[in-house]
Amino acid sequence: MSSYHALTEAEAVEFARSLPDLFTPGSELTSREIGDGNLNLVFHIVEPSTGKSIILKQALPYAKVVGESWPLSLDRARIESEALMIQESLCPDLVPHVFVYEKDLALTVMEDLSDHVIMRRGLIEGNRYPLFAGHIGRFLAHTLFYTSDLGMNQQEKKLRVKRFINPDLCKITEDLIFDDPYRNADTNDVPPAIQDAVEAIWNDSELHLEVAILRSGFLTKAQALLHGDLHTGSIFIKPDSTKVIDPEFAYYGPMGFDIGAVFANLLLNFAAQEGWSKDEASRKDYRTYLTDTIRDTWNVFEQEFRSLWNEHGVDRVSKTPGYQDWYMSQLLQDAVGYTGSKTVRRVHGLAQVADINKLEDAAAKERAQRIALRIGTTLIKQHRKTQSIEELIDIAWKAV
Ligand code: ADP
Ligand code: MG
Ligand code: MG
Ligand code: MG
Repeated sequence: MSSYHALTEAEAVEFARSLPDLFTPGSELTSREIGDGNLNLVFHIVEPSTGKSIILKQALPYAKVVGESWPLSLDRARIESEALMIQESLCPDLVPHVFVYEKDLALTVMEDLSDHVIMRRGLIEGNRYPLFAGHIGRFLAHTLFYTSDLGMNQQEKKLRVKRFINPDLCKITEDLIFDDPYRNADTNDVPPAIQDAVEAIWNDSELHLEVAILRSGFLTKAQALLHGDLHTGSIFIKPDSTKVIDPEFAYYGPMGFDIGAVFANLLLNFAAQEGWSKDEASRKDYRTYLTDTIRDTWNVFEQEFRSLWNEHGVDRVSKTPGYQDWYMSQLLQDAVGYTGSKTVRRVHGLAQVADINKLEDAAAKERAQRIALRIGTTLIKQHRKTQSIEELIDIAWKAV
């Protein structure tokens, strides 16, 4: 089984059986492919006699969404497993444990988190997660600080940047987030009801300049090891636990991109409350919960990041008076800009979100799409002027 090929469910069992110490020798194992993705296979392996279980995630050499014509490097399985291990060393409670990475099969064996739910689904169902802001704020602060020049030796960091060169996956982001939504590209899937609003985006040169500036940061600003795809579909959650999965887009980029991914997906759900909330009062209430979560996440992040910097900063120059305040204000502006970029692309680009797309009432769906576009484009245009997280929250509320 050692040369690369996509595993069958039976082969996944055979592979699981060959792993030492995980299952009882000789016992029966079951296997089911549960991946929803377009890029990978995900096998859930269970030993019914003991209830023990694991996940095998295998990278496919192409993106299924456009057939086999879009090749993707299998090296992203190494990148994903190494990123998970670095994240585990920094926040052991917030990511799945990796048992084994098998290079030839591009396979990662990890802890089974099936007792959690995907956060996007949890939010669509109207659940609330009071511990989430604390968890994700800490995840962001620790993973971004300790992989940056602020928190690690700068020579070692350069070697790490090299291990996380991820050109194929970065190209997906560069095209689908920073290019295609702003022109009439084939990859777009424009909902006919909002054609006018989308065409306005295609013709908005002020917006295009701000997007070009944000893209430049994505291309060149090797600040920290990012997760790279931190939407609510990459977060497993239950009331007392948060687990971040799926860092196959990990690379050295601008910290604000990960923060913005979290905020954007909360705001997409905020927009989608046009359809999910049953009346005006509950809509306002749930939206308030979502924007409180954004505020709390930023505040936890900022406080934790500054205190890591003050207590564990590794170099002298970064302690120059005034530098930390300048850095945090740039970081907020980046986060606001990337929040906007990640919001806009999910309305009419490739890979839209269930929060909006699953709405059955056409009028509510159209309102949600227009709200999301208003939020996203305003954030992009305002990002370089933003001074406080409250401005992002105001922009969201003014868009409804
Ligand atoms: P992709 O990169 O293809 O999106 P993900 O890592 O997001 O793959 O996994 C796809 C789906 O597989 C998840 O939405 C989840 O349902 C399931 N899954 C992935 N990892 C685990 C895990 N550790 N435990 C339980 N289920 C998982
Ligand atoms: Mg997926
Ligand atoms: Mg995923
Ligand atoms: Mg993925």
